Amino acid sequence: MSAETIERIRVFLIESPIKMQRQQGVGDVKGTVKRVLLELTSSSGIVGWGEAAPWEVFTGTAEAAVAALDIYLRPLVIGARVDRIRALTLQMKKALVGHGEAKLAIETAMFDILGQASGLSIATLLGGRVRDTIPLSFSIADPDFAADMRRMEEMVPKGNRIFKVKTGVKSHEEDVAHLEAMRNAFGDTIDLRIDYNQALQPFGAIKKLRDVDQFKPTFIEQPVPRDCLTAMASFAADLDTPILADESCFDMRDLQEVIRLQAADAISVKLMKAGGMLNAQALMALADLASLPGYGGTLYEGGIALAAGTQFIAATPGISLGCEFYMPHHVLTEDVLEEKIANRNGEVVVPDGPGLGIRVSERSLRANARILAER
Ligand SMILES: [Mg+2]
Repeated sequence: MSAETIERIRVFLIESPIKMQRQQGVGDVKGTVKRVLLELTSSSGIVGWGEAAPWEVFTGTAEAAVAALDIYLRPLVIGARVDRIRALTLQMKKALVGHGEAKLAIETAMFDILGQASGLSIATLLGGRVRDTIPLSFSIADPDFAADMRRMEEMVPKGNRIFKVKTGVKSHEEDVAHLEAMRNAFGDTIDLRIDYNQALQPFGAIKKLRDVDQFKPTFIEQPVPRDCLTAMASFAADLDTPILADESCFDMRDLQEVIRLQAADAISVKLMKAGGMLNAQALMALADLASLPGYGGTLYEGGIALAAGTQFIAATPGISLGCEFYMPHHVLTEDVLEEKIANRNGEVVVPDGPGLGIRVSERSLRANARILAER
């Protein structure tokens, strides 16, 4: 039997409406988000899907991901062997600098096909599950805080416990008042986390961080700009609350610096930053060595990217701080999956089934997404 190869690649630039405004230190989101979906078809007709969801203030643009896939990576993917994913990732690394989201989309679709061909889930192909569910964190980022409190009143009785508050956008006094309101309403039943998205300047930051420290957050994420690692290290040394690096830690080289400078106690791992599930597992291997737990972060990702994230976390023990994969259920008004990945009692349920464990079709894509371009 000849080896299965990729015969066809299609790229879709889509735009999705979102239900709520999101206000956060690094950039506001309102109205719609753009994403790129990728469909690969193998020589035996198996179809696999991948997603690139860049965010222009964070990792890059959706339009650049389309160009990377359509012009620069297409020639490498056509004819690539489905059972040699690692070799393809090395070729892509050599042929194109950056564009991790586009490379992730290809790796995801390749694993989806390999999984369907073998009857195994991506988590199994990545070493096998170490967990069947992942605790879900919801981000408190609506400019209308009262709307977020109403959401929490609905979500807490359904078993959602983890809430990550986006701080540093409104005044410090408002941030403190909101944290106090949440603790007063829900006490210690909720697991509060704080994310500044780089909003503070190192000068004077420690005083504000001490104020929020009193509400016993599980961690404070990225208080200062990504390059301010010595400031991060001083906060990690001074505060009881652990410091988590997000924008400061994209890849292994970043993590090496974080570890060397003791700039964080934990890291946010995002497949869009790492540029692949294999890269992200390698990143967590280094984090494990330094005893830094991981948190499953996300950009404005839809169901395909989050299915990849779910499979990755299911097979990666060090990601012990949960995930923020709430977009399809709470933020996007639609998604391209035929059925959303289940959330149960505040946890994301890792789907059964081969590959990504989801069902996507051209029909569901055309029915549910606004397609801006297809190649
Ligand atoms: Mg963050």
